[in-house]
Amino acid sequence: MGKVIAIANQKGGVGKTTTAVNLAASMAATKRKVLLIDLDPQGNATMGSGVDKYAVPASAYELLVEEKPFAEVVVKETAGGYHLVAANSDVTAAEVRLLNVFARELRLRNALKEARQQYDFIFIDCPPALNMLTVNAMAAADSVLVPMQCEYYALEGLTALMDTINQLTSVVNADLKIEGILRTMYDPRNRLANDVSEQLKQHFGDKVYRAVIPRNVRLAEAPSFGTPVMYYDKGSTGAKAYLALAGEILRRADKKTVKTTTPA
Ligand code: ADP
Ligand code: MG
Repeated sequence: MGKVIAIANQKGGVGKTTTAVNLAASMAATKRKVLLIDLDPQGNATMGSGVDKYAVPASAYELLVEEKPFAEVVVKETAGGYHLVAANSDVTAAEVRLLNVFARELRLRNALKEARQQYDFIFIDCPPALNMLTVNAMAAADSVLVPMQCEYYALEGLTALMDTINQLTSVVNADLKIEGILRTMYDPRNRLANDVSEQLKQHFGDKVYRAVIPRNVRLAEAPSFGTPVMYYDKGSTGAKAYLALAGEILRRADKKTVKTTTPA
């Protein structure tokens, strides 16, 4: 059964969407079956996957609010070799409409019940807020991947996010785990970034990925060509970093499988 990973941080501009698109493409390049769900009404992950957010017949709105079957909502042609549930401004309405429905936190979880069987990995690109869409993502997910920039206030924001995750786990998803913390837009020459990075490792230990995403202009350029960076400039440091992240996630998953299947 597929693993569902929500990519979340309530702060905007930390690299959630860049991570969602490029991690999905990197995983798909390793021959895994991958689904990316765009839950941000800005639709940046949709456009960055080479899919026109204005032209899609259905989006996450239809999946969540109208409860259309997954098969009618999924887009199978993307520039990244993965499948996509698109987002556009319609999804803003989903945030509001969901407030008045029964079991509103569990809409996405229920919508993905069958899709989970079809994919190895399902990534969810969350909006930059702890709203009902993000709650739906966390209720549906096995784990949360947190991209963060190593800035002065980053640790405070992270503590707030961890508190929310802990509250959510007790209410809607007792099994939710922290998948990992990803350092993004990293500049090793910046002393503050190094200090924050050290503090992160002290607080979160091996939850902090070894793979680090450097600041790389190719990563910022690729979306305007509607493609993940690996199909725009495969030799770029950004492309290599996201492939390394995919490899690390796969190795971690393998280790866990071995642990649980080895007799005590
Ligand atoms: P979020 O989804 O958290 O709001 P984005 O992934 O959209 O963040 O990133 C915010 C901006 O920073 C975008 O313009 C994106 O292209 C750029 N960006 C993200 N990661 C990097 C990186 N590693 N190097 C350079 N630019 C980046
Ligand atoms: Mg985003």
